Amino acid sequence: METKVFQIRDKEDGGIFQAAQVLRQGGLVAFPTETVYGLGANALDEEAAHRIYAAKGRPSDNPLIAHISSIKELEPLVTKIPETGRKLSETFWPGPLTLVFPKSRQVPYGTTGGLETVAVRMPGAEVARRLIALAGVPVAAPSANLSGKPSPTTAQHVWQDMNGRIDIILDGGPVGIGLESTIVDVSEDVPVLLRPGAITREMLEKAVGHVRIDPAILGRPNENIRPKAPGMKYRHYAPRAELTLVEGNACSVVEKINELVENDMASGKQVGIICTEETKGKYRQGILRSVGRRSQEETIAHNLFAVLREFDDLEVDCIYSESFSQDHLGYAIMNRLMKAAGYRTIYV
Ligand code: AMP
Ligand code: MG
Repeated sequence: METKVFQIRDKEDGGIFQAAQVLRQGGLVAFPTETVYGLGANALDEEAAHRIYAAKGRPSDNPLIAHISSIKELEPLVTKIPETGRKLSETFWPGPLTLVFPKSRQVPYGTTGGLETVAVRMPGAEVARRLIALAGVPVAAPSANLSGKPSPTTAQHVWQDMNGRIDIILDGGPVGIGLESTIVDVSEDVPVLLRPGAITREMLEKAVGHVRIDPAILGRPNENIRPKAPGMKYRHYAPRAELTLVEGNACSVVEKINELVENDMASGKQVGIICTEETKGKYRQGILRSVGRRSQEETIAHNLFAVLREFDDLEVDCIYSESFSQDHLGYAIMNRLMKAAGYRTIYV
């Protein structure tokens, strides 16, 4: 299959019309949202949804998020809009929040991975909403990466993974946030946070009071911790090289990483370091990549996946990363880093 790339300057661009037509015909279109690039197909067409799984190599029990362009498109997809769901959608949509509702019969099991619930989001990015509105159907869209790889934050990342596998890539430049949406299950009485993102726990609680936290967010999934978002159990976001997190106070972390890098390099390994603007001057050797400023965590969210992909291209043998506080956006950053590291952490 030939994959066409259209540069998109604004929401009136002709490429969006062509892409909407491809979606209506059951094809696959990658498009920018404010979180990461999505790989879209008609969410009401089971066969189109299957094509997403095939293109990504995604396990079929990992459900897709249905994207809508206006609030009136929510009702036909769900059997009930609980009070917490209504409040959260009013407060944070359009935006980087996905809500899980009981699904209506319109939504095929092929989209929900066999679940009785459906995850829905109204994205903030105007190009994404325009595409969905023109397609005239809800658009199922997981991140546009090969399963297991870091999510794409530029059209080039999508091209690396999806060239020859999908019909169209809409290139709207780098995304803003850089981490996937926050997911909250509002299908039961107390809302449950399933995946942290740019809409933080603190912001959710301000809007609806107590929010339960799925224990799988920072813990390694096992028979006692089974994530409610099926996708969270898979190895994810992972670079090819072995990634290890080093946690502790700032000075000891830098010292420990320096020591680990020295040992690895002495045995002939190529070593990468994920550091920050505040610490980058303190490392003695290794291939350094600053992921952003600790004082502005949104820069770290924005760059994280691109840095993980860059280390793939550099073909290092192992990577050490500094850790981050788990407050606010740091919670989402640490969740992605822990999964990328397969939970390998050294505490100092
Ligand atoms: P992605 O779009 O690639 O970020 O992946 C979608 C994420 O949403 C995965 O982690 C899924 O497991 C999760 N998800 C989608 N639908 C549901 C649902 N009905 N219940 C719980 N989690 C869901
Ligand atoms: Mg994904």
